[in-house]
Amino acid sequence: MPRFDYAPAPESRAIVDIRPSYGLFVGGAFVEGHGTPFKTVNPATEEVLAEVAEADAADVDRAVKAARTAYTRVWSRTSGRDRGKWLFRIARILQERSREFAVLETLDNGKPIKESRDVDVPLAAAHFFYHAGWADKLGYAGLGGSPADPPRPLGVVGQIIPWNFPLLMLAWKIAPALACGNTVVLKPAETTPLTALLFAEVCEQAGLPPGVVNIVTGAGPTGQALVEHPGVDKIAFTGSTEVGKLIARAVAGTRTRLTLELGGKAANIVYADAALDQAVEGIVDGIFFNQGHVCCAGSRLLVQESIHDDLVRRLQRRLATLRVGDPMDKNTDLGAINSAAQLEKIRELADAGEAEGANRWSPACELSSRGYWFPPTVFTGVAQSHRIAQEEVFGPVLSVLTFRTPAEAVAKANNTPYGLSAGIWSEKGSRVLWTADRLRAGVVWANTFNRFDPTSPFGGYKESGYGREGGRHGLAAYVASEVGA
Ligand code: NAP
Ligand code: MG
Repeated sequence: MPRFDYAPAPESRAIVDIRPSYGLFVGGAFVEGHGTPFKTVNPATEEVLAEVAEADAADVDRAVKAARTAYTRVWSRTSGRDRGKWLFRIARILQERSREFAVLETLDNGKPIKESRDVDVPLAAAHFFYHAGWADKLGYAGLGGSPADPPRPLGVVGQIIPWNFPLLMLAWKIAPALACGNTVVLKPAETTPLTALLFAEVCEQAGLPPGVVNIVTGAGPTGQALVEHPGVDKIAFTGSTEVGKLIARAVAGTRTRLTLELGGKAANIVYADAALDQAVEGIVDGIFFNQGHVCCAGSRLLVQESIHDDLVRRLQRRLATLRVGDPMDKNTDLGAINSAAQLEKIRELADAGEAEGANRWSPACELSSRGYWFPPTVFTGVAQSHRIAQEEVFGPVLSVLTFRTPAEAVAKANNTPYGLSAGIWSEKGSRVLWTADRLRAGVVWANTFNRFDPTSPFGGYKESGYGREGGRHGLAAYVASEVGA
């Protein structure tokens, strides 16, 4: 049979103007940092993209002071209606410059251009649109106060985000904080600072008052300086459970409020009556979207025993068609692993899966020798005690387990320290609802996976953290009079 292949369809990078070096964005201007500048690379090629300033504790202090000044002098006195106008303006600029953001995100992160173009950037803009709408309606949100006297903001918020969805996580943090009347100091991840710095330019372009948004770049120590700063009223953190625990300890006993969005080990449950080809698409989307660098990834596939062999066969056939390679090519499904350190972690856990006795399978695919790459990988014959069934791999690695009864599916799904998300595949609505009711997970998708919407709250149970982002519930984390939070 003739085999047709795709012609290369590379996106042009000409639209992005990457500067050789970047400072910190403090008080509405780019300023020098006093730490040691670091380089950010394109993980698909290891090419250095730019040198970025490192904020030390004094720089963080400066940023917090700029945010405080902006809060007391301007932002806390700005009406909800006017805050909403600025948020609308930011959302519109993100849309107007969407191609630029998508290309820059893909270069700095390694994710496929079709994902940054069709998911990350549109969702980031949607987050600003949605929260723009809330800014003058907070008194109706059921969070205390009244329409005439809406709930008060907290003040200065420190926000720390990971590298897997750099611009989108920025939007999840900054949009609700600003809508509620807070000012922010945000620290992006060390390996993906560039879209946050481009966002700083958007703030300038929108004429946002100086100091309302401040961006401090750096690694863990910069984040730690922000967490420990006494002038910060609230910390919002997205990242690993390990660092989340450190932060919870650091703010314990202080007046700093905290919300944590941490790791996950989601179960994707497929009942025997599910539409199998649709389920296969959902499984692929669940674990191979964004190279599996997704906190809510469906990394544990729980399959009803009677359909196990059939489903695995269909899945393998589908995976053989995935295109792994140049993230800038519009046909690419799986891009590069974000960093050498993450690649090492994925390799270690995958090797442990093999050593513990699970069966490892990957489709044939050629990986470039430059950059950081890992093939889509499926482990069958996984036991609940295996590390690949318990620990978050945060990479394109799926662990397949089986169950016989719905009760067993629920017990296995809940058998993890995490509780961020889950998926259920079945033709029968009552079975879906019965299962969803019993899953200890913040988000449960039925006959779909990895759907995001700014109106829908997102967050975890157990070691996946506390607090919600998005929707009316997400606003509660940014106002003083929380009700039922
Ligand atoms: P991470 O190591 O915890 O890093 C997250 C952020 O915290 C980064 O900006 C990091 O800086 C910073 N940081 C590191 N040490 C710190 C410290 N001691 N104090 C303050 N900040 C510190 O996590 P990651 O490996 O980058 O991200 C992957 C994790 O994030 C996964 O576990 C994933 O599940 C989770 N995640 C959760 C959600 C959610 O919504 N629940 C969403 C996305 C990701 P540097 O990286 O620059 O060093
Ligand atoms: Mg990078």
